[in-house]
Amino acid sequence: MSRALVIGCGGVASVAIHKCVQNSEIFTDLCIASRTKSKCDALAEKLAGRGCNITTAKVDADSVPELVALMKSYKPDIVLNLALPYQDLSIMDACLEAGVSYLDTANYEPEDTAKFEYKWQWAYREKFEKAGLTAILGCGFDPGVTGVFSAYAQKHEFDEISYIDILDCNGGDHGYPFATNFNPEINIREVSAKGSYIENGKWVETEPMEIKRTYNFKGVGEKDMYLLHHEELESLALNIKGIKRIRFFMTFGQSYLTHLKCLENVGMTSIEPIDFEGKQIVPLQFLKAVLPDPASLGPRTVGKTNIGCIFQGKKDGKEKHYYLYNICDHQECYREVGSQAVSYTTGVPAMIGAELFLRGLWKKPGVYNVEEFDPDPFMEGLNKWGLPWQEDRDPVLVD
Ligand code: NDP
Repeated sequence: MSRALVIGCGGVASVAIHKCVQNSEIFTDLCIASRTKSKCDALAEKLAGRGCNITTAKVDADSVPELVALMKSYKPDIVLNLALPYQDLSIMDACLEAGVSYLDTANYEPEDTAKFEYKWQWAYREKFEKAGLTAILGCGFDPGVTGVFSAYAQKHEFDEISYIDILDCNGGDHGYPFATNFNPEINIREVSAKGSYIENGKWVETEPMEIKRTYNFKGVGEKDMYLLHHEELESLALNIKGIKRIRFFMTFGQSYLTHLKCLENVGMTSIEPIDFEGKQIVPLQFLKAVLPDPASLGPRTVGKTNIGCIFQGKKDGKEKHYYLYNICDHQECYREVGSQAVSYTTGVPAMIGAELFLRGLWKKPGVYNVEEFDPDPFMEGLNKWGLPWQEDRDPVLVD
């Protein structure tokens, strides 16, 4: 018997909820709580009668008192924060006050500065430790599975890892000239920021999209990819011993980049509020309102994603290269849970992380990134719950 509270009912949450219901031996009771309760009710109705007792609630996750009241009345064993990164700290505060463990998929980002870092959430370590509660940070795919892959490589494949390249390829086509695969505001903030990577313990900053490479992805084919700043670089640099360099690349098509440049040039991606007809609006939030809802892309997206990590290091004194990756098909995801692969590859790991916590395997007081837990049961979970991984022991490297 275990009770989970899911906060948010968007693309990622919907997949995680479907997966919790498929895994109803563990997730016997589920409460779906979000800003727009009608979305929670519609999903609860769709999933009724499948072995999991689902209730719904309306909550403003920016309000600690509202969250505490909900947690104290529902009494969950864990909260899955699948709302937006802006709500991470209010939900962590509420968890501490109500005595509930916590999991999320994206690190905190203040709404008025497009800068995401772990420092705000790592500052909660002692509080969670003292309260005997677990907080699992970044348990989606990237961050999330990329950290688990790194911990697995470190545990089983290497004596020393020197280089990690994380490659995130979305070969999906939704047929629109421009749309984002997850929350447009979060996505555009991420890709229009400066790039960066870690080399010899230091951040090296680049202009946005300055570093471009081409890679031939299994299951997808050849794609252009660009170096981005990404949150798991920060935690992996600390948690993977002896690491010399970590980079993160994501693929983008030319149409996406041309539209993005134009939107940037006309000021539509700005997060500075402006006056419009007597009202303050944030251009990026307005843009989000006119772009297709990522949840609506599911039925029209075809193709595959391929996300993984290439490791270089040493085993038994010899140079070794190793690539761990997952290929996920947009249409197969849609047939199974009604969402495209980007939501799927994030929602499934969130459910697996929560399951491992509930089974006591990933339960330790404090605040942790996923690579600080045992990767083995998670790797089994990926194969079991729809994200099987593959290995390549002679991968093409990224220069
Ligand atoms: P969506 O925009 O689809 O969903 C967000 C949900 O949160 C919506 O249901 C929204 O409610 C709800 N919400 C927003 N603000 C509040 C609030 N103040 N109170 C209560 N509910 C609120 O986003 P996604 O599902 O695409 O993304 C969810 C999270 O997953 C994000 O943090 C994103 O960064 C992360 N992510 C992580 C990835 C990874 O691999 N680690 C990859 C992709 C995403 P409403 O319906 O009213 O708008």
